[in-house]
Amino acid sequence: MLIDETIASLANKLKKKEISPVDIAKECLKQIEKQNPKINAFITQVDSKAVLDQAKKIKLTTPLSGIPYVLKDVYVTKDLRTTAASNVLSDYIPQYDATVVHKVNSAGSILLGKMNMDAWGHGGSTENTDFGPAKNPWDITRVAGGSGGGPAAAIVSRMCSFAIGEDTGGSIRNPAGWCGITGLKVTYGRVSRYGSIAYASSFDSVGPTAKTAEDCALILQHIAGQDPHDATSSPLPVGDYLSRLEEGIQGKVIGVPKEFMGEGLDPKVKKLILVAAQKFTDLGAKIEEVSLPTSKYAISVYYLLAPSETSSNLARYDGIRYGNGRDKFTPETMRRIMIGTYALSAGYYDAYYKKAQQARTLIIKDYQKVFTKCDLILSPISPTPPTKLGELINDPVKNMLADIYTVTTNTAGIPALALPCGFTRSGLPIGMQLQGPMFSEEVLLQAGYAYQQVTDWHVRKPQL
Ligand code: GLN
Repeated sequence: MLIDETIASLANKLKKKEISPVDIAKECLKQIEKQNPKINAFITQVDSKAVLDQAKKIKLTTPLSGIPYVLKDVYVTKDLRTTAASNVLSDYIPQYDATVVHKVNSAGSILLGKMNMDAWGHGGSTENTDFGPAKNPWDITRVAGGSGGGPAAAIVSRMCSFAIGEDTGGSIRNPAGWCGITGLKVTYGRVSRYGSIAYASSFDSVGPTAKTAEDCALILQHIAGQDPHDATSSPLPVGDYLSRLEEGIQGKVIGVPKEFMGEGLDPKVKKLILVAAQKFTDLGAKIEEVSLPTSKYAISVYYLLAPSETSSNLARYDGIRYGNGRDKFTPETMRRIMIGTYALSAGYYDAYYKKAQQARTLIIKDYQKVFTKCDLILSPISPTPPTKLGELINDPVKNMLADIYTVTTNTAGIPALALPCGFTRSGLPIGMQLQGPMFSEEVLLQAGYAYQQVTDWHVRKPQL
């Protein structure tokens, strides 16, 4: 299948006119028809005829031209329904395109649809959705991860080439790990969030998900940069993610935090992370144990601050100006609004919200200290392989604890690259993440690229 190939390879064939955008689009539409009923990755599909018409007309101006993609349903799209997977917005038709959507469309990519997720980003399994859970293509009795389970499941089951995801506390990395694909959580502010439906504004980030680190580099090159519409987007110049991709990791020091490899980590996951560490050593890196002592507070910090911010962001959906009534929120989302409102209320603000902000600073300082000794940090993404349907949504505490290795990244605002690093004996994919200092996307992508030159986890696909 064409759609097994990377963007880089498809772009090359398109340029040489060996294939046309219509060939790729047709294949994707066929796959969606065949696989989506089993997976439930889509919330809203773009009309097939419109997709093919666009494919016929597309001009090949960039490596993304003619490449079919999907959006996690948190990005507003002009005249196309945007729900954030919630009944509150089930009939919301936006009037403009988010900046990231505008950039990808201007590069010539073809949008196939808006994808399933945990409502508002609240969750790690795509079960907290009003559109039915997304299933894991490697085992449909299991979840695809979350909150961006739909986009990840669609890529690995070959319904599209890439996706634009959103990561507040792991929502790009967790589903990438559990579906066996590659995803990049960028530095806070690296990509514009204008037109992205806010979950927790001091954590949210926009990033690419695809099959390989090289594809993520290609996409990032097009979407990164300052945006006059988003005051939180960074004015720092955009890196050159592509031309130095092959530089390798010779001499780089990769830290493995002992707190991320201890109690609570499934031995099957641990083993694969250690095997990956050995691969990095073979590639010329030096592996060192490091410590992030305050990471033990990360879940408490994140689950006070993110709900506080979401309680404020979701106040606008009052059923009068925007959206349907507030009774349409799911129990998980209501719980977060309640926790956040409580943590922000007079009398509790100092004890909870303010304390959590202080602890956040300690976590940032921990990372800064570690990054004086190493270039990157290697760790698991999730403590377990993909969970069974029902396992997380019915156990709110377990649901939060599953984010233990991902929320520190967003708490510190740093970037992280999720990569597939193996399979359990029963054939479930396992992922790892590399974290780096602020704006180290170039180095992260170089490391991911080097790893994917000597492994083939990223090319495997499920037999659906
Ligand atoms: N699972 C985390 C949460 O529920 C992260 C979600 C996200 O990154 N959007 O908050």
